[in-house]
Formats: sequence, structure tokens, C-alpha cells
Amino acid sequence: MKQPKAIPDHYPVIALAGNPNVGKSTLFNSLTTGKKQHTGNWIGKTTANAWGICHSPARDYTLVDIPGTYSLSSRSAEEEVARDFICFGAHQAVVIVCDATCLERNLNLVLQILEATDRTLVCVNLLDEAEKKNITIDLDQLSDLLCVPVAGTSARKKSTLSSFLERLDDITEGPAIPHYQVTYCPELEKAVSMVEPAVKNWLDTTSRFLSLRLLEDDPSFLRSFTNACQLVPSQDPAIADCLKTAWDHLNRKGIFKDILKDRIVSGLIDNAETIASLCVKLPERSYNETDRKLDRILTGRLAAYPAMAGLLALIFWITLVGANDLSALLSRLFFSFQPVLDQALLSLHFPDWIRDAFVHGVYQVLAWVVSVMLPPMAIFFPLFTLLED
Ligand code: GDP
Repeated sequence: MKQPKAIPDHYPVIALAGNPNVGKSTLFNSLTTGKKQHTGNWIGKTTANAWGICHSPARDYTLVDIPGTYSLSSRSAEEEVARDFICFGAHQAVVIVCDATCLERNLNLVLQILEATDRTLVCVNLLDEAEKKNITIDLDQLSDLLCVPVAGTSARKKSTLSSFLERLDDITEGPAIPHYQVTYCPELEKAVSMVEPAVKNWLDTTSRFLSLRLLEDDPSFLRSFTNACQLVPSQDPAIADCLKTAWDHLNRKGIFKDILKDRIVSGLIDNAETIASLCVKLPERSYNETDRKLDRILTGRLAAYPAMAGLLALIFWITLVGANDLSALLSRLFFSFQPVLDQALLSLHFPDWIRDAFVHGVYQVLAWVVSVMLPPMAIFFPLFTLLED
């Protein structure tokens, strides 16, 4: 099993998953007591993670804050760590933290995790922000649709966390209940039904998820699967046969590898849209509409790369131009102190070599470094954070 070596398992282990910036770490800090342990030794990876002990009315849990990810089709080392812990980690349940102000977008990950695990709790966080934006979410309806417990929180306010802890006890105590299943296009559903029976012997509850990944032929996932389960799917004759039949069927329908990936993503997006339309009520002048229009333009095939290059170029330009003036200002300020410092050391009768080394050595170098380095950093990093948002 891929597990950070230092995570103890004498309490049930709960993975805290979610998109980046949904308040996962805030929730983790509010729920765990005492010193938080950070661990960077995931097998073969250097990603830092944190675990801590969380007390519920019924029992204690080891809560693991795994890296934020947008999807289980990983693209970075962090996303791979998150996916591997969700899929193969020795956890008892996965909590999926969502941002209430853009639930539909977050549901993509929720639906993927529901395919990959059998005990999940959906935590709709940032409810206070959603309220400010007049977004209403019917949590009971969401829970009914997904067939999993749903808890609403505002992670910064500890008083909102009690129902979360009760739901956590519910999912770890009772039997695992079959939950929502994404419906893909008929061709893909047929292909999955051809592969799933052969895969069921290995992973009964998540056979659908594994069948999709086998069809997708995602090398990173298959490598992790082999490491975790000591099995090489392609070497199993029954699975190889089923995969060949499924691929013959898909090819006959005009679906090839890249189209298959698109169909999987489309299936997730369509299902997320349907669920969100049934339980999210947006304000009259829709916040999400504008958001979506912007998203469509900025992430469209034609505009995405020029938009990214343009925004980065703008940030570099602001940094370079702004830093020049600020650097000059800081340098004038620091160097105006130099004669004063020199005079002070002289009047205190410091030997010449010490005065020289300190004023023309240490102070001057420090003044140069700070006045050259500080302004670009102070401009670039806040702007980059804004761009990331
Ligand atoms: P992570 O990337 O998912 O770990 O997100 P963080 O925990 O770092 O939170 C991102 C930002 O959202 C931080 O500025 C938090 O203070 C803020 N935040 C988190 N939860 C809440 C919440 O429930 N309400 C509000 N208003 N802000 C929150």
C-alpha cells in the first residue's frame, strides 16, 4: 500500500481530499488538536502532507490532509500522491471538501472519488461565502442524489463543525452503501460492462473505476495499481481478452483513445451539471454565469494559451517596471544612511578596518541585495497569487 510511512493507524484514517483552495487545510486545522505532524516521505515522492488527530463524539480519527487535486487523472506529482492515497491508501473513508460558491465545478472530483472509493463524506465548505453571494445549496437534496452523507461547514467557524463530525461517525460506523454512479455515453457504458466482470475478482467495489482506467490506459495509474496491488492487469489473459473486445467495440463506433478520454470527461461534466442544477440555487443575476463565460473564453482551445502568455507577460512587465522605481527608491534610502553609519562608527573610535568592513562591506552588500531583490519579489508573488485565483 502507498502510505506515508509516518502516519499512524491506531485510529481510523480519514483522507481529506478536494480541489485546491476549498478550505481543506483550514478545516484540517480546525478539526485537529495539538501539534500537526508533517510528513514528506510518501514512497518515491517528496510532497509534504500533514496528519493530525481529530476527536468526534464517538471516537478519534487520524485525519490526513492530502494535496489538493482537480481530478484523479493526475498530471503532477502532488495530484499523483492525492490519487494514490485516495485509491490505494489504507484509509477508512474519504472526506471530499467542496467550495459552496462553485459546487458544480467541484462535483467533477466528487464523482470521480465516488467511483474510486466506497465510504465517502461530502463536505460543502465556504457556506458563509456562498451566503454572501446569495447562493443556496440544498444539502439534503445533494445527499439524496449522491447517496452519501453531506455536511455543510464554514471551516473558519468551529461552531459549524459538529454536524460534520456526526456525519463522519455515521460513515465509519455503518455498512458502505452503494452511491451515485456516473452515466457515460452508451458506447462507453457498453465497453465498461465488457471489462468489469473480469476486473471484479480483484476489486469488487471499485471495479467500474478500474475498468475505466484500464480502458483509458493511463500509465501513471496502472503503475501505481501494480505497485499497490502487486498485479499487472495487462498480464491477466481474461482482462486482456475483455479489453480487446471492448476496444473492438469502441473502434467500430468510431471511438479511439483520445476521444475516449473526452467522453469520460464529458460524462463527468454532464452529470455534475445535472446534479448542481437540482440542488444549487444561484442568485438572479448569476455569479456562475459570468464565471462560466469567462472560463469558456479563457480556457477555450484558441484563447487559453495566448491568454495565459498575455497574463504572464503582463505580470512580468509590471514586475520589471514597478521594481525598477522601487529599487531606486530603496537604494537611495539605504545609501543615505551609509555616511551616518560611517560617522557613528568613527565617533565610537572603531578601528578603520572594522568600520570599512562593516560599512563598505556588510552594510553596502546587504543594501544592494535588499534593494534589488525585495521589490520584484514583493510585486511578483502577490500578483502571481492573484492570477492563480
Ligand atoms: P486549501 O487549499 O483547500 O487547503 O484551502 P485553505 O484552507 O488554504 O483555504 C483557502 C482560503 O479560504 C484561505 O484564505 C482560508 O482562510 C479561506 N477559507 C477556508 N475556509 C473558509 C470558510 O469556511 N469561510 C471563509 N470565508 N473562508 C474560508
